[in-house]
Amino acid sequence: MESLLKKWDGEEVIIRFDNLTKAWIIIAIHNTRLGIGTGGTRMKPYQNLQEALQDAMKLAEGMSYKYAVSNFPRGGAKAVIALPDKFDSTERPDLLRRYGKLVCQLGGLFETGPDVGTSPDDMDIISETGDPYIFCRTPQKGGAGDSGPATALGVFSGMQAVCEQLFNSPSLEAKRVLVQGAGSVGNPLIQLLRDAGAEVLFSDIDEAAIAHLQAKKGLKHIHPDKIFDTPCDIFAPCALGGILNKNTIPRLKCLAVAGGANNQLSEPADAERLWGRQILYAPDFAINIGGAMAIIGIETMGWSRAEADKNVTSVRQTLKHIFAIATAEGINTDVAARRIARSRLFEDQ
Ligand code: NAD
Repeated sequence: MESLLKKWDGEEVIIRFDNLTKAWIIIAIHNTRLGIGTGGTRMKPYQNLQEALQDAMKLAEGMSYKYAVSNFPRGGAKAVIALPDKFDSTERPDLLRRYGKLVCQLGGLFETGPDVGTSPDDMDIISETGDPYIFCRTPQKGGAGDSGPATALGVFSGMQAVCEQLFNSPSLEAKRVLVQGAGSVGNPLIQLLRDAGAEVLFSDIDEAAIAHLQAKKGLKHIHPDKIFDTPCDIFAPCALGGILNKNTIPRLKCLAVAGGANNQLSEPADAERLWGRQILYAPDFAINIGGAMAIIGIETMGWSRAEADKNVTSVRQTLKHIFAIATAEGINTDVAARRIARSRLFEDQ
């Protein structure tokens, strides 16, 4: 634990042991140079405190890069609530209220919303004690609602930058796009692509979602086993992380990868593998910020929905900038995006 903390280039970590449930609460603040530390609350069991701490620190760092590459005025942070093995779910609301109280005590050092294992309903409970530092509550409690459509709009705008780079035009008309995962992000993305005249293929594992898109929208479904072997212009991962790796990248038959899923690369070398195959990769942390941007903007910065939608389309400019630096310097797009983010996070201004 000590060496983990010493190696980390973040600002601070707050750790509290919740004696009543035996849960650990960890809030990691990575970099507040651009604004208040802001990130979701992940709630799940971990093997031990060290694993939970490592996850919180890594996720907080990821948030710093996500905001910085888009020049969004927020700092990177994340919370982890590490549940004990035998967690009694009836204790959940009170645990969330105690967590909210801790967030409130920090007095604006940290703001939070949902992540893996927490939902807008949980944010309603946390905000009972954590107000005004909790966002993404349910619409009934004043929250801005599902972030998926705004994330999809950002991804779509990013795809326009991809098309400009590849075809000298932002139009997606007649481009063949394969969307992996037709959920909260993939579904509205499919609609945006169809409205733009793209030829959309999709893959999912949920029978009901597959039947709906095939029957109601006439879309072609690709079996999950065939996803990496299907020819397309743009492959859009919108389901799982870690899908781009040394085994799958050689199989890809696309010109670009641009999708909403988090952590698409298994390891940093995968960006170089894509670059080596001349597949244009839109770094996930740059292209999938739309939902966070819209929700934070609407709930804490006074944006209207129309302003949020307009601001989310800035993803296109962000990606154009990344592609320009990658091309000019002969570096892969992931390295270029991280370089831009680091210059805003760490260099003297
Ligand atoms: P979701 O659970 O609503 O949708 C995921 C979809 O992928 C589901 O329909 C699921 O059946 C499908 N799926 C799962 N495994 C699959 C497989 N092997 N092949 C094909 N389809 C599969 O999730 P979501 O909110 O749409 O998020 C999707 C991804 O985008 C996640 O990686 C998430 O972390 C990331 N993301 C989401 C948001 C957001 O605003 N929701 C924001 C940023 C990043």
